Amino acid sequence: MLTETITPDRTGKADKNRSSKKTFVYSFEKGDLSNKQLLGGKGANLCAMTKMGLKVPPGFVITTEACLSYLTDPDKKLPEGLKEQVQAEISRLEQITGKKFGNPENPLLVSVRSGSALSMPGMMDTILNLGLCEATIPGLIRQTGNERFVYDAFRRLIQLFGKIALGISDQKFERAMEHKLHDAGFKSETSLDSAQLKSLCDEFLKIVQQETGAPFPVDANDQLETAIRAVFNSWMGKRAVDYRKEFRITPEMANGTAVNIVTMVFGNMGADSATGVGFTRDPGTGERVIYGEYLINAQGEDVVAGIRTPRPVSGLKKDMPEQYKQLLELNRKLELHFREVQDYEYTIEKGVLYCLQTRNGKMNAAALVRTSVEMVQEGLLTKEQALLRIKPEILEQLLHPMIDPAQKLEPVAAGLPASPGAATGKVVFDSDRAEVMNRAGEPVILMREETRPEDIHGFFAARGILTSRGGKTSHAAVVARGMGKPCVAGAGTIRIDNKQRLAYAGDVVIREGDFITIDGSDGNIYTGALKMIEPKFSKELRTILEWSDEVAGIKVYANADTPDDAVRAVDFGAMGIGLCRTERMFNASDRLPVVVDMILAEKNEDRQNALAKLHQMQKNDFIKIFKVMAPRPVTVRLLDPPIHEFLPSETRLTEEIEYLHELGHLIRGVNTLFAETLNTSAVNDLPGAPFNPEGESRVEKMIVKKQKMLQKAHELKEINPMLGHRGVRLGITRPEIYEMQISAIMEAAVECRKAGIQANPEIMVPQVSLPEELENIKKLTEIIAERFEKEKGVKPVYRFGTMIEVVRACLEAGDLAMTGDFFSFGTNDLTQATFSFSREDAENKFLPAYLSSGLLQDNPFEILDIRGVGKLMKMAVSAGRQTKPDLKIGICGEHGGQPAAIEFCYRIGLNYVSCSSLRVPVARMAAAHAAIGKKAQATL
Ligand code: PEP
Ligand code: MG
Repeated sequence: MLTETITPDRTGKADKNRSSKKTFVYSFEKGDLSNKQLLGGKGANLCAMTKMGLKVPPGFVITTEACLSYLTDPDKKLPEGLKEQVQAEISRLEQITGKKFGNPENPLLVSVRSGSALSMPGMMDTILNLGLCEATIPGLIRQTGNERFVYDAFRRLIQLFGKIALGISDQKFERAMEHKLHDAGFKSETSLDSAQLKSLCDEFLKIVQQETGAPFPVDANDQLETAIRAVFNSWMGKRAVDYRKEFRITPEMANGTAVNIVTMVFGNMGADSATGVGFTRDPGTGERVIYGEYLINAQGEDVVAGIRTPRPVSGLKKDMPEQYKQLLELNRKLELHFREVQDYEYTIEKGVLYCLQTRNGKMNAAALVRTSVEMVQEGLLTKEQALLRIKPEILEQLLHPMIDPAQKLEPVAAGLPASPGAATGKVVFDSDRAEVMNRAGEPVILMREETRPEDIHGFFAARGILTSRGGKTSHAAVVARGMGKPCVAGAGTIRIDNKQRLAYAGDVVIREGDFITIDGSDGNIYTGALKMIEPKFSKELRTILEWSDEVAGIKVYANADTPDDAVRAVDFGAMGIGLCRTERMFNASDRLPVVVDMILAEKNEDRQNALAKLHQMQKNDFIKIFKVMAPRPVTVRLLDPPIHEFLPSETRLTEEIEYLHELGHLIRGVNTLFAETLNTSAVNDLPGAPFNPEGESRVEKMIVKKQKMLQKAHELKEINPMLGHRGVRLGITRPEIYEMQISAIMEAAVECRKAGIQANPEIMVPQVSLPEELENIKKLTEIIAERFEKEKGVKPVYRFGTMIEVVRACLEAGDLAMTGDFFSFGTNDLTQATFSFSREDAENKFLPAYLSSGLLQDNPFEILDIRGVGKLMKMAVSAGRQTKPDLKIGICGEHGGQPAAIEFCYRIGLNYVSCSSLRVPVARMAAAHAAIGKKAQATL
């Protein structure tokens, strides 16, 4: 048993205990199978399998401590005692196998394999067939009876050892191989016979001599020592370091690599030998069937390298019935022991089945969910264990169309993965055309520099949205997420030429009508229509999410703006709506003109007319949403954006006016021509006559309206609209809008209740910074409620609360809680305000540099900044609850669907998180993980 405990420090420096008494080497029989930090995952599992009595080729593990000791030694000396301990283990292997390491008659060959605490496939080095050299070749030929295989193994050893252990460029060997193939007239190395391979080995040996000035090591122990050093060094190789950085593998998770020295067994010793890889369940579907492939008379890497086509494992039943039975038994035992789907490698040498390695199988989301449910039903896992197997984020895969990974893909550009899922369609550069094409049944991808509220019909029409500007909380990103449509935002390398109706992605020209595919899960953009895999909400997913809800300690609501969104939210298990952005309702194409009329109205009567129309529309929407959600709460947020956002931009209006002038001029010209030359009534009788006396005045009226809009847009323009005339400030200065919205909410709720539908509206005020602002809107709300009660004889049921998205609101939370029944953190704006980073621009401008230089670990618009924003939230929760202990508190910024933020929200006592409906399943799983984590901590 191991006595040392390792305490790897953050700098990756090793314990400098280099005492010769320290144990650096453990046989598979003696290693502590639970200590992956010390023995690596592969080593610990080899020890486990040996102890379980499974047939594992004899071997031993060199610890990660030895690796760290070596790597931190300035002279790169192996730690004291290591060589002797390795020698002792080699002698033990010789005894067990009856072979001798380096012996020409009966050579023992070993593999030297890397393996750290966390699996990092392909990132570190492994060398096979060590112990092979010119002296031992004849002995191995006798053992295997296969000269070709021996020379093939030898040339692989020279190349691998040359590259990994001696640092020779792989190209040298590859060029020699190319010449050999060219001379022999072959395309593939599998065609080379043993004589050709033998001569290739001679050439490889010459390369080693030329490049290193020394011959290829003929002494097996020299080979072994060099190989061990090479594997140690591969821990700090560029590949491995980059991988750890990418996947955020810290020294606490894995520190140094262990080295596994394993007796070689050969699956290529004839028809009674084979090699294969297996999964204990189908990793694609999760079905409980033995899964994998094998090859008779082959070496392990042949299966992986695809040199020969392996056969499905079911064929082994016929080819080797006895070994097939053993394999089924191996499957069963592995799962019973590891209580996890296993991915294993095996070799059958002269009828004897050896298991060479096992690790937890990587599965897609569907398989992970299915196996979790079934392993609980089979008694292999508890519900909590089953939940913990599933990383919440992975569930997103099940809810969006995905690009079929079977295709070979080369993106033409990339942007920010702003709303997950993939979509394919024809590129369109404006929303009107998107709508027309969609009506004609064409699949559309809307490509814009950036989107504005007036593009909403384009969003409805498009399958996906692509912008060349803007971040993950830009208009495009937020709207697309709300609608559950894929979006790639801020693809800065794409240049859009709206006039020519084309875009450039580097050298590639994308014209309107060309097919493209966007992947909002990774931000990649491809030309052409790629094949998709459609999502499925399986019964197993429903089951696992019900189990999540049983253990979770925080509710999950959805951000939903339309009745359709609400239906999806309920389907995905939302327990309420945490944010219904009413401005989205204003943006529908039948409403925008009414909103514009309201903005332009000069007379009170015109304004009231427009408001009355909007009132009716909003009320109908609320009724539909309340019906879908009842009895769950629906948090309706009063109008938030500055009203100029409902008008087209000044540039666009100016262009439209110019165009209308040209049109008017044209019509006038044609009319004059006809009036001068022909009898008017006769011409009017002609079919398709261009003479159009009303055209002129219609165009003129339109020009007048557009000019009014332009003037209004100019008046309302702000230098800094994000900090401008929006949210509650609008409610204070233009109370008629909030009044219309509040009464629409109340009327809708009362009508629902009359019909027996338990509508539970929560009225939420955005951008509040002063308690007085909230009091003002609360008074307005109460007046409307009283008036309503007087007129209709029914008291409206509602709650009244505020968003907390301004720094000052966090500071005033105690007072705000006196007025509000609930708080909802708007962490999009709160992040913007806390950092003074613009939500619209930061992600495209300086944030990438902050992230790559390590100034920031994460994009704070995506991953909640617990240190800063979180501190403000915590303060606000505590002050709010001091005033009102039962204050309901939630979060409705984009972070509401992010697992680490959910854990934080749960920890600081929030009642709910609210996120876009497609994130709801992820959030439900994350809520369960948070509760299980807390329980585990409490029992420590
Ligand atoms: C927020 O600011 O976090 C929020 C939810 O509001 P919006 O994104 O609409 O500004
Ligand atoms: Mg906000």
